[in-house]
Amino acid sequence: MQHIIDRFISYVTIDTESDANSETTPSTAKQWDLANKLVEELKAIGMQDVTIDDKSYIMATLPSNVVHEVPTIGFVSHFDTTPDFTGANVKPQIIPNYDGKDIILNVEQNIILSPSYFKDLLLYKGQTLITTDGTTLLGADDKAGITEIMTAMEFLINNPEIKHGKIRVGFTPDEEIGRGAHHFDVEKFGADWAYTMDGSQVGELEYENFNAAGAKITFKGKSVHPGYAKGKMINSILIANDFINALPKGETPQETRGYEGFFHVNHLTGGIEESVLELIIRDHSKKKFEKRKELIEKIANKINKKFAKQFGEDIVVAEINDQYYNMKEKVVPVKYIVDIAEKAMKEVNVKPLIKPIRGGTDGCQLSYKGLPCPNIFAGGHNFHGKYEYVPVESMQKAVEVIVKIAELTSMPNFGLEQPKTKKTK
Ligand SMILES: [Zn+2]
Repeated sequence: MQHIIDRFISYVTIDTESDANSETTPSTAKQWDLANKLVEELKAIGMQDVTIDDKSYIMATLPSNVVHEVPTIGFVSHFDTTPDFTGANVKPQIIPNYDGKDIILNVEQNIILSPSYFKDLLLYKGQTLITTDGTTLLGADDKAGITEIMTAMEFLINNPEIKHGKIRVGFTPDEEIGRGAHHFDVEKFGADWAYTMDGSQVGELEYENFNAAGAKITFKGKSVHPGYAKGKMINSILIANDFINALPKGETPQETRGYEGFFHVNHLTGGIEESVLELIIRDHSKKKFEKRKELIEKIANKINKKFAKQFGEDIVVAEINDQYYNMKEKVVPVKYIVDIAEKAMKEVNVKPLIKPIRGGTDGCQLSYKGLPCPNIFAGGHNFHGKYEYVPVESMQKAVEVIVKIAELTSMPNFGLEQPKTKKTK
């Protein structure tokens, strides 16, 4: 256990916060500090073809140790941490044999990680937790994933009696600012499929995410002295208000879960003459996603019609841009790659929790770049803040899952009894 803890701590104590305002890749120079270390470590454990490109994307190979043809699979994680909370001077605390009670993260600032608020903690009674000291995030997202992949590769190298095909490893920068897959060279990676190790709770297995679009809606108005405005003034703020009220009720992020989509009004600026409203559209169903985008156009058209005479031109202009799509469309045709991960979990006594992601992952972008890429748990909880923690046992389970997936992939029919016909939504 100490080995995996030491490895994890050696990563999280290197600050790799990314920066959405930067145009470079990696977005912050400090990401090189960990990237260069990872390259050395991959070489040291005996990985081959270890490469790092000018944008800090790392790839490495564990060659096949069987003579028959086996698909090449990949495991992918990101080494940056979110700009939402500081990742500098992380001082991890180790809580062995967690007793199920409050954990004092920081005495001076009275910061407490409590199971009365974070109920998931109780799943890990008796286990070893790694937490923050209450002043930074931990960085288990996604340095737990990197720890697990590195440890699994080392284990396979040291235990050559475990048979597996060719395995590719990919570590990326800038996932937290949505760019992790942007410069990922899928062709160079050369895997038939891959898994991101970037989920949360032990057992999570995800291959469905939102379809996503952003809309910018501009409302025009006419400013007239309010004392003489009757029949003349058009207040763009009020038109924006009408627009928001025309959106379906009950379909906001705070009122939806599971497979329920939403409109999320997230920014509004304006005055009489012009107001600009920004919103995002999310839905797992492609059909409903398209309907939602159409609705935006419909509402805009209706308002435009109403003001056509008075204003003389379109008073509402809606620009809608697609952001990413549900990876399900790319994964379902090769659904066995999910079945393999599910079987691997069961074989190492992890209960698979298959659920839709209410967001996107690097894996969804990679899936659309031709590398189908479901997401597997990395084990951490409460990402992107000071309450982040990871049970060491969950990281160990993730290592076992990676090893088992490698093993199953080298077996006839990937160790699956029969092609599954499980219904998916
Ligand atoms: Zn992540």
